[in-house]
Amino acid sequence: MATSQIPQIINLAGKSALITGASSGIGRSTAVLFRQLGASVIAVARNADRLKELVEECETIKQPPEFQGFIHAVSADVTREDDVDSLFTSVQQKFGDKFDILINNAGLLEKGSILETDTKQYDRVMDLNLKAIYNITAKAAQYLINAKGNVVNVSSVNGMRSFPGVLAYNISKAGVDQLTRCVALELAAQGVRVNSVNPGVTVTELHRRSGMDDKAYQSFLDHSKSTHALGRAGQSIEVARAIAFLASDAASFITGVTLPVDGGRHAMCPR
Ligand code: NDP
Repeated sequence: MATSQIPQIINLAGKSALITGASSGIGRSTAVLFRQLGASVIAVARNADRLKELVEECETIKQPPEFQGFIHAVSADVTREDDVDSLFTSVQQKFGDKFDILINNAGLLEKGSILETDTKQYDRVMDLNLKAIYNITAKAAQYLINAKGNVVNVSSVNGMRSFPGVLAYNISKAGVDQLTRCVALELAAQGVRVNSVNPGVTVTELHRRSGMDDKAYQSFLDHSKSTHALGRAGQSIEVARAIAFLASDAASFITGVTLPVDGGRHAMCPR
């Protein structure tokens, strides 16, 4: 079979996607991959300079003529109602009354056990990791119904398994998994699919932003060799590829799943 006759399983040409947390890590890799696969992207995060760098990188991508599309950056704090309202004004301007794919990726990690946490930390973590997803998904629902589109939430292995010392984060991700299944059932009749990816430790800025210095982060990555069956931490592109699969028509009969992208960590038990 000639190379040109090999079917491309994952193809997002002609699709339009809204990606939150696109200025670094998993969200940034997803935005670049979606542009490479032909999607038009609205990339959302707070840091406008880093979004500008993302747009510049995407503009260098060489694509076949049938992969038309664009990337548009919107600087917004997704925990702020007024920012989200402005974001949806941009969505209407750029995508019209429908768009195909919502990637709820923006998130943060804070450390703290039941002995160390407080309601301020709980609110910060839940506001971004769960309430913002609830709000954005609700606002996006009619657009997705119009397009018979889909949602991919970026949850965590922490949503499926219990790790001490990051209590609010664990609860928020368990909530994301429940939201994924519930909204999948609520929107299935309208042809909208809703899924999650559940990454293990992935090399991004998440842990350093949570307060780890370079030395602690390196030792955390070394430790990840034994906490992940495949013997290493993951890379953001490995999560982005799973997101692209779930968001594509290749996953047309998949909804309500929470897909571990974690080198087997979810399957491990201490012994
Ligand atoms: P990063 O810290 O690299 O990226 C987080 C992204 O979220 C950034 O683009 C950041 O941009 C954005 N963000 C943070 N706060 C807000 C806000 N209030 N409004 C809008 N955007 C915001 O981390 P990751 O790429 O690792 O994280 C992405 C997702 O992956 C998260 O949901 C995380 O929980 C999940 N995850 C990560 C794992 C890991 O090991 N890295 C493991 C499992 C899950 P900006 O600062 O510009 O706003």
